[in-house]
Parts: sequence; structure tokens; C-alpha cells
Amino acid sequence: MIQVGKVWYACEEHIDPVLDKIVDEYARAPDLIPLSTSDQEQGPGCHWCGKKPNYRLQLSVSE
Ligand SMILES: [Zn+2]
Repeated sequence: MIQVGKVWYACEEHIDPVLDKIVDEYARAPDLIPLSTSDQEQGPGCHWCGKKPNYRLQLSVSE
């Protein structure tokens, strides 16, 4: 079972700054998961601008 440590959302436009911020803070690259339309409707907005996100970025916890 994959344990998800932290999750962010980003739209097409802000995938780069959000990704940079995560790599900066955690020194690791998160997994990028493209969102389906139904995920976009339900999920929270882009971490940067609050609009509908196109991607989920998740950092899994691995020991
Ligand atoms: Zn955005």
C-alpha cells in the first residue's frame, strides 16, 4: 500500500512553479498524476491560483 505523504494540485499554467516549490522545500520530486474531469470537479483548486487543477502532485512517504 502506498502511503501518500502530501498532496498538491496545480493547473496547466502553474505546474512549473508548484513543482519548483515542492522540490525546493522537500528536495524531492513528487509524482505527477493527471486529473480526470470528475476529479477536477471534486478536488480543491490549483495551489497557486485556485482555479481548476489539471494535475495532482503527490509526495509519497517511503521509509
Ligand atoms: Zn494555477
